[in-house]
Amino acid sequence: MGAVAGPEIERLVQLLARLPGLGPRSARRAALHLIKKREALMMPLSSALQVALDKVEVCKTCGNIDTQNPCTVCTDPKRDPSIIVVVADVADLWALERANATQGRYHVLGATLSPLDGVGPQDLTIDALVARAHDSQVQEIILALNATVDGQTTAHYITDLLQDANVKVTRLAHGVPVGGELDYLDEGTLSAAMRQRTLF
Ligand code: ZN
Repeated sequence: MGAVAGPEIERLVQLLARLPGLGPRSARRAALHLIKKREALMMPLSSALQVALDKVEVCKTCGNIDTQNPCTVCTDPKRDPSIIVVVADVADLWALERANATQGRYHVLGATLSPLDGVGPQDLTIDALVARAHDSQVQEIILALNATVDGQTTAHYITDLLQDANVKVTRLAHGVPVGGELDYLDEGTLSAAMRQRTLF
């Protein structure tokens, strides 16, 4: 598609098109919407972006992203200090928080081990996790990692390193999704669900 607007607007469209889930067409629609809603949307968005740019930091304890450091989760006195939930990415942390799934604290690895993509242990915050696991308050490490080859490789690697720490290492169950129908599940999920059956 050729340029239909001045370079400033084209630049806005191009930047919006880099956002996940927005292709060139929806980026153009979003840009137009922003321009039409200049007062109600574009200006507040612009200042929110500026504030985020100035204030957002990576939590020095867990790796979450927040405007305070340590982050809101790490400083919340209602959180259980005996549990650390290990996630690959901040997006996973936020997903677990949306689900209200745990009262524990978190540890963000930054990625999962992936030999094919050249991601090794030194690229992840595994050393910091091992150090945290040796804190006498910590009793359980929950590995909330993807049910993929890379996720499970990472889980095994971490479990080996935590042998010396006095903690219980657990991982998320694999199995039937809530609302899922057995007939539609793949064989791997079905057999994992059967192996990990629980007492009714
Ligand atoms: Zn934190």
